[in-house]
Amino acid sequence: MSGHVLILNAGSSSLKFRIYELGDAADSWNVAAGGQIEGIGTAPRLHAKDGAGKTIADDRLAGKADARAALDALAKWLRTRFGAKGLVGVGHRVVHGGASYAAPVVVTARVLDDLRGLEPLAPLHQPYNLAGIAQLLERLPDLPQVACFDTGFHRGWSDVAELVPVPAEIRRAGVQRYGFHGISYEYIAGALPRVAPEIADKRVIVAHLGSGASLCALKNGKSVDCTFGFTALDGLCMGTRPGALDPGVVLHLFQALELSAKEVETLLYKKCGLLGISGFSNDMRELLASPDPNAMLAVDYFIYHATKQLGSLAAILGGLDGLVFTAGIGENSPEIRRRISEACAWLGD
Ligand code: ADP
Repeated sequence: MSGHVLILNAGSSSLKFRIYELGDAADSWNVAAGGQIEGIGTAPRLHAKDGAGKTIADDRLAGKADARAALDALAKWLRTRFGAKGLVGVGHRVVHGGASYAAPVVVTARVLDDLRGLEPLAPLHQPYNLAGIAQLLERLPDLPQVACFDTGFHRGWSDVAELVPVPAEIRRAGVQRYGFHGISYEYIAGALPRVAPEIADKRVIVAHLGSGASLCALKNGKSVDCTFGFTALDGLCMGTRPGALDPGVVLHLFQALELSAKEVETLLYKKCGLLGISGFSNDMRELLASPDPNAMLAVDYFIYHATKQLGSLAAILGGLDGLVFTAGIGENSPEIRRRISEACAWLGD
């Protein structure tokens, strides 16, 4: 590789990547390849396309490959494809930057330690994001690695938007609303002046509807609020997370059902949302195609809460000039986009 930068988004079952190559102008980076390893831990498969969108890899990896083996396999494939030298840096998506980290930061051992302290606040993502960084630090200690935070874009919120209404000593321990999906929202805010200049500096809600789902209220391209709060459990109904939930339910799980903290964590992150309601799937495609009444109920609940919370963010913005959809469901499901847009038609054309 010569003059390449690798971007990684390491999750529990997938490792998404892009390789950028330095172009002729000093600050022009062209996409050389991008793709992902899916099915980590079960049936891992590497799929990659070149900068023109042509498939250049579609290979089943040997064994079940855990996250570590998947990153090794990707590194090997990249070396074969782009040569061994010239990787100038790696950028990582890191879900939680906490109160201390907002802007992208070069990762040192101390930064990594700080970020590990946030793992309990994002157990579905943070450990996997950081494992990739640690693995590369071990192998290539001199290679600059930069962490970019999903919380960073939201760090201009008003005091009242950031507030979690608990006593000050608890807030001093870092309990505040952070918001997530910020890297995606920042990209969209940056693209709006080109794609939809007529709304770019107005009141816009972005609906990031994927396995994780949230809404972000943008005013003049800046985030003013988001349906996520302290953790990525709040807000919209998601694939396996419930979204907004009466805290009394959590108390009930501990007190009446006597679940342990670990069991409650697993329940809230992995067994609720679309999966919990339908009883069989967290995949919106399967739910939309299913005649099962519980699948329909799950989709109805998803739409209902997207509509309800979209209304509350529109109230915070004082009206709405534009609605943007993104992520797996938002980009690919005309039916979900139509149902949410129709339900919000009262907000204007
Ligand atoms: P994440 O990156 O958070 O894992 P994605 O943004 O990839 O999630 O979104 C995954 C979701 O998108 C799944 O629920 C999947 O079913 C849904 N999805 C993908 N394509 C479609 C489609 N054509 N119609 C409806 N839902 C879709």
